[in-house]
Amino acid sequence: MARYARLAFPEAPNDFRWYALHEDRADALDGAPWLSPATLGTRPLTGAIYGVPTTPSKIVCVGRNYAAHAKELGNEVPKEPLLFHKPVSSLLANGGTVILPRESERVEQEAELAFVVGHRIRRATREEARAAIFGYTVAFDITARDIQKKDVQFTRGKGFDTFCPVGPTLTAASAFAPDATTIRCWRNGELRQDGHTADMIFPVDVVLAYASQVMTFEPGDLILTGTPEGVGPLAAGDTLRLEVPGLDALTVEIGADREG
Ligand code: ZN
Repeated sequence: MARYARLAFPEAPNDFRWYALHEDRADALDGAPWLSPATLGTRPLTGAIYGVPTTPSKIVCVGRNYAAHAKELGNEVPKEPLLFHKPVSSLLANGGTVILPRESERVEQEAELAFVVGHRIRRATREEARAAIFGYTVAFDITARDIQKKDVQFTRGKGFDTFCPVGPTLTAASAFAPDATTIRCWRNGELRQDGHTADMIFPVDVVLAYASQVMTFEPGDLILTGTPEGVGPLAAGDTLRLEVPGLDALTVEIGADREG
């Protein structure tokens, strides 16, 4: 299974570069994996720090893409994909801490399958969209539910710094079946979301084709595909874990807003 990550190592902990991953070692790449990069050398994975596994120009999300989740929040099941953005400033790597902003009384997790685009597309067909998906990962669409409801627009409620944990790795699209897999989220070891991507209203290629009618997608762009039912409130000190078989699991901590 071809897996990729942006890694740094203790001797230069902020210098994230692309690697192709193997069992206990990593091949350094001279560019993003969708650029067919050359291999520069290999090294042990010991001490590796996993960064966000893409550098997107934008993050596009789809809301209410599972009927049971739409209903749990009292919403109609949409007839077309409901698109919104999260800012790239909300990205957070595996092992990071989601900060609960002081402006919200209710922050919730949404466990989601995510994917990264491998080449530029605009007004793609469903087939072109499927072919443009480079790889899959998992992400949390962290949401300040009270602010989302109050604002109607999603920008503030879903846009806080740290509200888009993603990774730790990308699995090549050729090695993963996005339409037939479980998606599970644990909060402090307790199963909170237990969904299946077969229940998505709009499959991944439909979402990307639809969104590409509006905006050009660039290599590296990140798409979150919606959450199954079971969203719920978070508290400082919580640990969240997201598992999709065939993809590496994502774990984050929840922390209080301590800035002056
Ligand atoms: Zn979501």
